[in-house]
Amino acid sequence: MANRKLYDLIIIGGGPAGLSAGIYALRASMRTVLIEKGAPGGQVTLSAEVENYPAIKNKSGFELAQSFLEHAQDYNLEVLPQEVSALEPGLDFHTVRLNSDEVLKAHAVILATGGSPRKLSIPGEDDNYGKGVSYCAVCDGFFFRNKTVVVVGGGDTAAEEALYLAKITKKVYLVHRRNTLRASMILQKRLEADPKIEILWNTVAKAIRAEGDEVCAMDLEDTYSGGKRELKTDGAFIFIGFEPNNQLVPAGTRMNADGYVVTDEKCETNLDGIFAIGDLREKYARQIVLSAADGCTAALASAHYVEIKRAAGL
Ligand code: NAP
Repeated sequence: MANRKLYDLIIIGGGPAGLSAGIYALRASMRTVLIEKGAPGGQVTLSAEVENYPAIKNKSGFELAQSFLEHAQDYNLEVLPQEVSALEPGLDFHTVRLNSDEVLKAHAVILATGGSPRKLSIPGEDDNYGKGVSYCAVCDGFFFRNKTVVVVGGGDTAAEEALYLAKITKKVYLVHRRNTLRASMILQKRLEADPKIEILWNTVAKAIRAEGDEVCAMDLEDTYSGGKRELKTDGAFIFIGFEPNNQLVPAGTRMNADGYVVTDEKCETNLDGIFAIGDLREKYARQIVLSAADGCTAALASAHYVEIKRAAGL
Protein backbone atom coordinates (compact mmCIF):
# COMPACT_ATOMS: atom_id res chain seq x y z
CA MET A 1 0.00 0.00 0.00
CA ALA A 2 1.40 3.42 -0.95
CA ASN A 3 2.19 5.64 2.03
CA ARG A 4 1.21 9.29 2.18
CA LYS A 5 3.29 12.19 3.45
CA LEU A 6 2.07 15.73 3.98
CA TYR A 7 4.28 18.75 3.31
CA ASP A 8 3.76 22.50 3.15
CA LEU A 9 5.62 22.58 -0.14
CA ILE A 10 6.79 20.09 -2.75
CA ILE A 11 9.35 21.30 -5.29
CA ILE A 12 9.65 19.21 -8.46
CA GLY A 13 13.03 19.69 -10.13
CA GLY A 14 16.50 20.31 -8.70
CA GLY A 15 18.16 22.87 -10.98
CA PRO A 16 19.07 26.42 -9.89
CA ALA A 17 15.37 27.37 -9.81
CA GLY A 18 14.24 24.45 -7.64
CA LEU A 19 17.25 24.59 -5.29
CA SER A 20 16.85 28.36 -4.81
CA ALA A 21 13.17 27.77 -3.99
CA GLY A 22 14.32 25.16 -1.45
CA ILE A 23 16.70 27.60 0.24
CA TYR A 24 14.02 30.27 0.60
CA ALA A 25 11.31 27.79 1.64
CA LEU A 26 13.43 26.42 4.47
CA ARG A 27 14.34 29.91 5.59
CA ALA A 28 10.56 30.49 5.81
CA SER A 29 10.26 27.33 7.97
CA MET A 30 8.14 25.44 5.46
CA ARG A 31 8.05 21.64 5.61
CA THR A 32 9.58 21.12 2.18
CA VAL A 33 10.74 18.28 -0.02
CA LEU A 34 12.48 18.60 -3.38
CA ILE A 35 12.09 15.73 -5.85
CA GLU A 36 14.70 15.25 -8.57
CA LYS A 37 14.89 12.23 -10.85
CA GLY A 38 18.52 12.77 -11.96
CA ALA A 39 21.53 14.38 -10.36
CA PRO A 40 20.63 17.75 -8.76
CA GLY A 41 21.98 20.78 -10.62
CA GLY A 42 19.95 20.79 -13.82
CA GLN A 43 21.11 21.95 -17.24
CA VAL A 44 23.81 24.24 -15.86
CA THR A 45 25.92 21.18 -14.98
CA LEU A 46 26.41 20.75 -18.76
CA SER A 47 27.92 24.23 -19.22
CA ALA A 48 31.70 24.39 -19.40
CA GLU A 49 31.91 27.88 -17.90
CA VAL A 50 29.44 30.34 -16.47
CA GLU A 51 30.62 33.95 -16.59
CA ASN A 52 27.44 35.91 -16.06
CA TYR A 53 26.09 34.83 -12.69
CA PRO A 54 26.44 38.13 -10.84
CA ALA A 55 29.12 38.27 -8.16
CA ILE A 56 30.68 35.01 -9.43
CA LYS A 57 32.99 35.98 -12.25
CA ASN A 58 33.79 32.53 -13.53
CA LYS A 59 32.87 29.05 -12.44
CA SER A 60 32.30 25.80 -14.26
CA GLY A 61 28.62 24.90 -14.63
CA PHE A 62 29.19 21.82 -12.49
CA GLU A 63 30.79 23.84 -9.67
CA LEU A 64 28.02 26.42 -9.74
CA ALA A 65 25.38 23.68 -9.57
CA GLN A 66 27.22 22.12 -6.63
CA SER A 67 27.21 25.49 -4.84
CA PHE A 68 23.41 25.69 -5.21
CA LEU A 69 23.05 22.15 -3.84
CA GLU A 70 25.44 22.69 -0.93
CA HIS A 71 23.70 25.91 0.02
CA ALA A 72 20.31 24.13 0.06
CA GLN A 73 21.78 21.22 2.04
CA ASP A 74 23.08 23.67 4.65
CA TYR A 75 19.39 24.25 5.44
CA ASN A 76 18.77 20.47 5.49
CA LEU A 77 16.61 20.47 2.40
CA GLU A 78 15.14 16.98 1.97
CA VAL A 79 15.98 15.82 -1.57
CA LEU A 80 14.14 12.74 -2.84
CA PRO A 81 15.92 11.04 -5.76
CA GLN A 82 12.71 9.85 -7.39
CA GLU A 83 10.71 10.38 -10.57
CA VAL A 84 7.29 12.03 -10.34
CA SER A 85 4.58 10.31 -12.38
CA ALA A 86 1.74 12.79 -11.82
CA LEU A 87 0.71 16.02 -10.15
CA GLU A 88 -2.97 16.14 -9.30
CA PRO A 89 -4.34 19.49 -8.12
CA GLY A 90 -6.81 19.35 -5.23
CA LEU A 91 -8.86 21.78 -3.18
CA ASP A 92 -7.27 21.04 0.21
CA PHE A 93 -4.00 19.53 -0.90
CA HIS A 94 -2.22 18.80 -4.15
CA THR A 95 -1.14 15.21 -4.72
CA VAL A 96 2.23 14.20 -6.16
CA ARG A 97 2.55 10.57 -7.26
CA LEU A 98 5.96 8.99 -7.62
CA ASN A 99 6.98 6.15 -9.94
CA SER A 100 7.77 4.18 -6.79
CA ASP A 101 4.00 4.28 -5.99
CA GLU A 102 4.64 6.62 -3.07
CA VAL A 103 2.08 9.42 -2.74
CA LEU A 104 3.01 12.85 -1.33
CA LYS A 105 0.64 15.69 -0.52
CA ALA A 106 1.29 19.40 -0.06
CA HIS A 107 -0.50 22.72 0.25
CA ALA A 108 1.70 24.20 -2.47
CA VAL A 109 3.72 22.76 -5.34
CA ILE A 110 6.50 24.45 -7.30
CA LEU A 111 7.20 23.02 -10.74
CA ALA A 112 10.86 23.57 -11.69
CA THR A 113 11.27 20.92 -14.37
CA GLY A 114 13.23 23.07 -16.84
CA GLY A 115 13.69 22.07 -20.47
CA SER A 116 15.44 19.53 -22.70
CA PRO A 117 17.53 20.07 -25.85
CA ARG A 118 15.48 20.61 -29.02
CA LYS A 119 16.25 18.19 -31.83
CA LEU A 120 16.81 18.98 -35.49
CA SER A 121 14.70 15.93 -36.40
CA ILE A 122 16.77 15.15 -39.50
CA PRO A 123 17.88 11.77 -40.84
CA GLY A 124 20.86 10.36 -38.97
CA GLU A 125 20.31 12.43 -35.81
CA ASP A 126 18.74 9.78 -33.57
CA ASP A 127 20.59 6.86 -35.15
CA ASN A 128 23.99 8.45 -34.50
CA TYR A 129 23.34 9.81 -31.01
CA GLY A 130 26.41 8.87 -28.97
CA LYS A 131 28.33 8.00 -32.15
CA GLY A 132 29.19 11.60 -33.03
CA VAL A 133 25.86 13.35 -32.48
CA SER A 134 25.80 15.20 -29.16
CA TYR A 135 23.83 17.80 -27.22
CA CYS A 136 26.58 18.44 -24.65
CA ALA A 137 30.07 19.68 -25.49
CA VAL A 138 31.34 19.35 -21.93
CA CYS A 139 30.25 15.71 -21.80
CA ASP A 140 31.48 14.63 -25.24
CA GLY A 141 34.01 17.23 -26.46
CA PHE A 142 36.91 15.17 -25.14
CA PHE A 143 36.25 12.50 -27.80
CA PHE A 144 36.88 15.04 -30.57
CA ARG A 145 40.37 16.16 -29.59
CA ASN A 146 42.14 17.44 -32.75
CA LYS A 147 39.14 16.50 -34.90
CA THR A 148 36.63 18.52 -36.93
CA VAL A 149 33.14 19.20 -35.58
CA VAL A 150 30.01 21.01 -36.68
CA VAL A 151 27.97 23.04 -34.20
CA VAL A 152 24.41 23.81 -35.25
CA GLY A 153 22.61 26.88 -33.82
CA GLY A 154 23.04 30.62 -33.43
CA GLY A 155 22.08 31.32 -29.80
CA ASP A 156 24.13 31.75 -26.63
CA THR A 157 24.41 28.01 -26.11
CA ALA A 158 25.72 27.30 -29.61
CA ALA A 159 28.20 30.19 -29.32
CA GLU A 160 29.48 29.15 -25.88
CA GLU A 161 29.79 25.52 -26.87
CA ALA A 162 31.52 26.35 -30.17
CA LEU A 163 34.09 28.40 -28.23
CA TYR A 164 34.58 25.54 -25.79
CA LEU A 165 34.98 22.99 -28.60
CA ALA A 166 37.47 25.25 -30.41
CA LYS A 167 39.83 24.80 -27.45
CA ILE A 168 39.84 21.03 -27.92
CA THR A 169 39.28 20.35 -31.61
CA LYS A 170 41.13 21.14 -34.83
CA LYS A 171 38.23 22.98 -36.51
CA VAL A 172 34.68 24.07 -35.64
CA TYR A 173 32.08 24.91 -38.30
CA LEU A 174 29.15 26.86 -36.85
CA VAL A 175 26.11 26.23 -39.02
CA HIS A 176 23.41 28.88 -38.65
CA ARG A 177 20.20 29.23 -40.61
CA ARG A 178 20.29 33.06 -40.82
CA ASN A 179 22.89 35.75 -41.50
CA THR A 180 22.90 37.15 -37.95
CA LEU A 181 23.42 35.37 -34.67
CA ARG A 182 21.01 35.44 -31.75
CA ALA A 183 23.93 35.06 -29.31
CA SER A 184 24.98 38.03 -27.14
CA MET A 185 27.42 40.53 -28.68
CA ILE A 186 30.30 39.56 -26.37
CA LEU A 187 30.05 35.95 -27.56
CA GLN A 188 29.73 37.01 -31.21
CA LYS A 189 32.97 38.96 -30.92
CA ARG A 190 34.75 35.97 -29.39
CA LEU A 191 33.50 33.72 -32.20
CA GLU A 192 34.77 36.14 -34.84
CA ALA A 193 38.16 36.35 -33.13
CA ASP A 194 38.65 32.59 -32.87
CA PRO A 195 40.73 31.35 -35.82
CA LYS A 196 39.46 27.79 -35.44
CA ILE A 197 35.79 28.77 -35.87
CA GLU A 198 34.20 29.26 -39.29
CA ILE A 199 30.59 30.38 -39.45
CA LEU A 200 28.49 29.00 -42.31
CA TRP A 201 25.70 31.57 -42.66
CA ASN A 202 22.25 30.93 -44.14
CA THR A 203 22.85 27.23 -43.94
CA VAL A 204 20.69 24.39 -42.66
CA ALA A 205 21.60 20.81 -41.84
CA LYS A 206 19.56 18.30 -43.80
CA ALA A 207 21.12 14.97 -42.74
CA ILE A 208 23.91 13.46 -40.65
CA ARG A 209 25.89 10.69 -42.30
CA ALA A 210 27.94 7.95 -40.66
CA GLU A 211 30.42 5.34 -41.76
CA GLY A 212 30.24 2.31 -39.54
CA ASP A 213 29.73 3.54 -36.01
CA GLU A 214 31.05 7.07 -36.50
CA VAL A 215 29.67 10.29 -37.94
CA CYS A 216 31.58 11.25 -41.09
CA ALA A 217 29.66 14.11 -42.76
CA MET A 218 26.65 16.40 -42.79
CA ASP A 219 24.42 17.31 -45.71
CA LEU A 220 23.97 21.09 -45.80
CA GLU A 221 21.74 23.39 -47.81
CA ASP A 222 22.08 27.10 -48.53
CA THR A 223 18.79 28.78 -47.57
CA TYR A 224 19.14 31.44 -50.32
CA SER A 225 20.46 29.54 -53.33
CA GLY A 226 19.13 26.10 -52.36
CA GLY A 227 22.65 24.80 -53.13
CA LYS A 228 23.49 21.50 -51.46
CA ARG A 229 26.84 20.22 -50.27
CA GLU A 230 28.41 17.59 -48.09
CA LEU A 231 30.69 18.74 -45.26
CA LYS A 232 33.13 16.22 -43.78
CA THR A 233 32.97 16.20 -39.99
CA ASP A 234 33.70 13.89 -37.10
CA GLY A 235 30.92 15.19 -34.90
CA ALA A 236 27.63 17.09 -34.89
CA PHE A 237 26.85 19.18 -31.82
CA ILE A 238 23.28 20.47 -31.84
CA PHE A 239 22.32 23.53 -29.79
CA ILE A 240 19.11 24.91 -31.24
CA GLY A 241 17.27 25.80 -28.07
CA PHE A 242 15.19 23.62 -25.88
CA GLU A 243 11.64 22.46 -25.23
CA PRO A 244 9.98 22.98 -21.85
CA ASN A 245 9.61 19.82 -19.77
CA ASN A 246 5.88 20.34 -19.28
CA GLN A 247 4.75 16.71 -19.05
CA LEU A 248 3.75 17.10 -15.38
CA VAL A 249 1.86 20.37 -15.83
CA PRO A 250 -1.74 19.57 -14.83
CA ALA A 251 -4.57 19.84 -17.35
CA GLY A 252 -6.21 23.24 -17.18
CA THR A 253 -2.93 25.10 -16.53
CA ARG A 254 -2.47 28.07 -18.83
CA MET A 255 0.43 27.58 -21.27
CA ASN A 256 1.54 29.58 -24.30
CA ALA A 257 1.74 28.22 -27.86
CA ASP A 258 5.31 26.99 -27.26
CA GLY A 259 4.32 24.98 -24.19
CA TYR A 260 5.76 27.34 -21.54
CA VAL A 261 3.62 27.84 -18.42
CA VAL A 262 2.08 31.29 -18.03
CA THR A 263 2.35 32.67 -14.50
CA ASP A 264 1.70 35.91 -12.67
CA GLU A 265 4.45 38.00 -11.09
CA LYS A 266 4.47 35.65 -8.07
CA CYS A 267 5.26 32.76 -10.46
CA GLU A 268 1.83 31.30 -9.62
CA THR A 269 -0.11 29.51 -12.34
CA ASN A 270 -3.85 29.90 -12.82
CA LEU A 271 -4.24 26.89 -10.44
CA ASP A 272 -4.24 27.92 -6.76
CA GLY A 273 -1.05 26.96 -4.95
CA ILE A 274 0.73 25.63 -8.05
CA PHE A 275 3.77 27.63 -9.13
CA ALA A 276 6.06 27.33 -12.17
CA ILE A 277 9.63 28.65 -12.19
CA GLY A 278 12.82 28.75 -14.22
CA ASP A 279 12.98 27.57 -17.83
CA LEU A 280 9.51 26.01 -17.66
CA ARG A 281 7.88 29.44 -17.26
CA GLU A 282 7.06 31.92 -20.03
CA LYS A 283 9.52 34.78 -19.63
CA TYR A 284 11.59 37.35 -21.52
CA ALA A 285 15.04 35.82 -20.92
CA ARG A 286 16.35 32.48 -19.72
CA GLN A 287 19.33 32.95 -17.45
CA ILE A 288 20.54 31.13 -14.35
CA VAL A 289 20.19 34.27 -12.27
CA LEU A 290 16.55 34.58 -13.36
CA SER A 291 15.86 30.95 -12.49
CA ALA A 292 17.30 31.56 -9.03
CA ALA A 293 15.17 34.71 -8.72
CA ASP A 294 12.06 32.75 -9.73
CA GLY A 295 12.85 30.21 -7.01
CA CYS A 296 12.99 33.00 -4.43
CA THR A 297 9.75 34.58 -5.65
CA ALA A 298 7.77 31.33 -5.73
CA ALA A 299 9.02 30.16 -2.33
CA LEU A 300 8.07 33.45 -0.67
CA ALA A 301 4.70 33.51 -2.45
CA SER A 302 3.98 29.87 -1.57
CA ALA A 303 4.87 30.53 2.09
CA HIS A 304 2.34 33.37 2.11
CA TYR A 305 -0.22 31.10 0.40
CA VAL A 306 0.23 28.37 3.02
CA GLU A 307 0.01 30.89 5.90
CA ILE A 308 -3.32 32.18 4.58
CA LYS A 309 -4.67 28.64 4.25
CA ARG A 310 -3.59 27.85 7.81
CA ALA A 311 -5.10 31.08 9.16
CA ALA A 312 -8.37 30.14 7.49
CA GLY A 313 -8.16 26.73 9.21
CA LEU A 314 -7.81 24.83 5.93
P1 NAP B 1 17.97 30.06 -28.38
O1 NAP B 1 18.41 31.35 -27.81
O2 NAP B 1 16.51 29.79 -28.54
O3 NAP B 1 18.70 29.89 -29.78
C1 NAP B 1 18.41 28.79 -30.58
C2 NAP B 1 19.20 28.95 -31.88
O4 NAP B 1 18.99 27.79 -32.66
C3 NAP B 1 18.75 30.15 -32.68
O5 NAP B 1 19.85 30.75 -33.27
C4 NAP B 1 17.83 29.53 -33.72
O6 NAP B 1 17.88 30.20 -34.96
C5 NAP B 1 18.44 28.17 -33.92
N1 NAP B 1 17.42 27.19 -34.27
C6 NAP B 1 16.25 26.91 -33.65
N2 NAP B 1 15.60 25.90 -34.26
C7 NAP B 1 16.38 25.55 -35.30
C8 NAP B 1 16.25 24.58 -36.32
N3 NAP B 1 15.20 23.75 -36.38
N4 NAP B 1 17.22 24.48 -37.25
C9 NAP B 1 18.31 25.30 -37.19
N5 NAP B 1 18.49 26.25 -36.25
C10 NAP B 1 17.53 26.36 -35.33
O7 NAP B 1 18.52 28.79 -27.52
P2 NAP B 1 19.82 28.65 -26.61
O8 NAP B 1 21.01 29.18 -27.29
O9 NAP B 1 19.82 27.24 -26.13
O10 NAP B 1 19.50 29.57 -25.38
C11 NAP B 1 18.30 29.36 -24.61
C12 NAP B 1 18.19 30.46 -23.58
O11 NAP B 1 19.21 30.30 -22.61
C13 NAP B 1 18.38 31.86 -24.18
O12 NAP B 1 17.54 32.75 -23.51
C14 NAP B 1 19.81 32.17 -23.89
O13 NAP B 1 20.09 33.56 -23.81
C15 NAP B 1 20.01 31.48 -22.56
N6 NAP B 1 21.41 31.11 -22.38
C16 NAP B 1 22.21 32.01 -21.77
C17 NAP B 1 23.53 31.71 -21.59
C18 NAP B 1 24.40 32.70 -20.92
O14 NAP B 1 23.98 33.83 -20.75
N7 NAP B 1 25.59 32.35 -20.51
C19 NAP B 1 24.08 30.51 -22.04
C20 NAP B 1 23.24 29.63 -22.68
C21 NAP B 1 21.91 29.95 -22.87
P3 NAP B 1 17.23 31.67 -35.14
O15 NAP B 1 18.18 32.60 -34.48
O16 NAP B 1 17.16 31.82 -36.62
O17 NAP B 1 15.88 31.60 -34.49
